[in-house]
Amino acid sequence: MMESGFVLILVITALLVGLASGKLWERYRLVQGHWVDRRRLRQSPHFIVGLNYLVDGRVDLAIEELEQASTLDPGALELRMVLGNLYRERGQVGRAIQEHQALLQRPRLNPMEHANVLLCLGLDYLRGGFVDRATEAFSEVLKLAPNNEAALNNLEKLQEEQHQWQAAYDTRQRLATISGPASQARSKTIMAFLEHALGVQALGQGEIDEARRRFLAATELDSTVIPAYLSLGDVRLQQGDRAGAAKIWESAVKVSTDRAYLPLGRLEALYVEEGAPNRFIALCEQLTSAAPREWRARAALASHLVSQGQPTAALESLFAALEHNPHALAIHQAIWSLLSALDLPQPLVARYIEVTRQSVFYLDPHVCTRCRYRSTELLWQCPQCHEWNTFVEERITPASDVESEMSQGVGE
Ligand SMILES: [Zn+2]
Repeated sequence: MMESGFVLILVITALLVGLASGKLWERYRLVQGHWVDRRRLRQSPHFIVGLNYLVDGRVDLAIEELEQASTLDPGALELRMVLGNLYRERGQVGRAIQEHQALLQRPRLNPMEHANVLLCLGLDYLRGGFVDRATEAFSEVLKLAPNNEAALNNLEKLQEEQHQWQAAYDTRQRLATISGPASQARSKTIMAFLEHALGVQALGQGEIDEARRRFLAATELDSTVIPAYLSLGDVRLQQGDRAGAAKIWESAVKVSTDRAYLPLGRLEALYVEEGAPNRFIALCEQLTSAAPREWRARAALASHLVSQGQPTAALESLFAALEHNPHALAIHQAIWSLLSALDLPQPLVARYIEVTRQSVFYLDPHVCTRCRYRSTELLWQCPQCHEWNTFVEERITPASDVESEMSQGVGE
């Protein structure tokens, strides 16, 4: 929250600077039949002092100075708009709403001014938790300014929050058509996740063919959206298409080594039912040789070997996993339950102690790459910044690796 507040202050500051130098700032303005020389405002110290406070992030002092500046030109719409935003940032949502609503009452607002004030008001409502009114305000902005990206982005997040997946999808599609090529990939990823959510919703309503179509569309929009592969396989299996289910889950394994473990449980059950458990062992071995640091494939292999009556082979797989990921508590638990099932054989206990001797333990290894939110499990949408597909697993690196990376950095 602190970070987003700071970003907003930067935006407000940029707006004020633009205001002081840009086209919005005509020298004279007709206010209620009189020409007012707006240079008075620019020449007063309050405006520039307030601006400096804002740059320093001292919101209270900035408000004080800008209020003084505003008394010199009560007609300055942009200044009142910014003051409203600052009140909101200070937590005075009611005051911000009053300020922006009063601006809406002004006669002769041009459509752009009208849209900007409505956008501010929408953000006030959002901050105050008035979801319906915020939605309405952003929709009004879009009637006046159909390509307003801020309104579209906020509207999409509101629609997602209320699980209005189709509306969110439409909003994202509008954003995709107006934004530049740089953000197209991100839009496609978001639409893929929304397509998946729509599929899950269809499934809940018993529309299985519709769900299947949606899941497939999601993988076509973005081939890295794993939940769509999982769900599509589930539907195929439910419809009796076992080969089709295996095929889609196997293709999910190839999407990324980081997330290759996700379909493993489903594939294991499928292979075992077909009487081909060796296919699962081969798959896990292929995964661990391709990505030696991926511990989950080794853990999945271990649990499979236990179910096949091979506890010693399972322990070997777990020890190998532990060497690469000493922080994964699930491995420790699996090792200890196997060791006790085997009556604590002394040489194996000694190996465990040796492997873990220099380990560092910590929790919550998944981190949002956008806002650094931490989670113990992999999440598809961040609960803090609401972004899609931003979680990566945090890796610990042995001290020697870090040193060699640092010396490489110095060499460059
Ligand atoms: Zn986040």
